[in-house]
Amino acid sequence: MGYDSQNIFAKIIRNEVPCDKVYENDHVLAFRDINPQAPNHVLVIPKGSYISMEDFSENGSDLEITEFWRAVGQVARMIGGVSDGYRILANHGRDAHQEVFHFHVHIFSGCDLGHMIKIQNG
Ligand code: 5GP
Repeated sequence: MGYDSQNIFAKIIRNEVPCDKVYENDHVLAFRDINPQAPNHVLVIPKGSYISMEDFSENGSDLEITEFWRAVGQVARMIGGVSDGYRILANHGRDAHQEVFHFHVHIFSGCDLGHMIKIQNG
């Protein structure tokens, strides 16, 4: 399956769909999730066309990868997650229930996030 340029995050990057922007630079965009699972729930995405962590880690340039992970840390600081804690998460593929096929990292903060994740029927 190739990259679908009509996915919702590609449309957000092209300003065809609005977002609640938190941070942006030449390589990265961060915005609030439309269906937040914590008081602060921000998505960080590279502007390049990568399907998931698998694609990005394999095909992203050194510059894109560096800029991306620096931005994840910066956004976590911006939303106040450093003192009390935060969680990052990236879904790849079926078993992880990836819904949007443009690579993204979720950042959660602002409450007790519980202990890791609960696997049902796992
Ligand atoms: P995934 O399961 O792919 O890791 O999560 C995709 C995330 O994208 C979900 O948390 C969902 O709420 C979020 N999302 C889907 N469509 C939109 C949208 O149009 N705008 C924003 N801001 N978030 C979206």
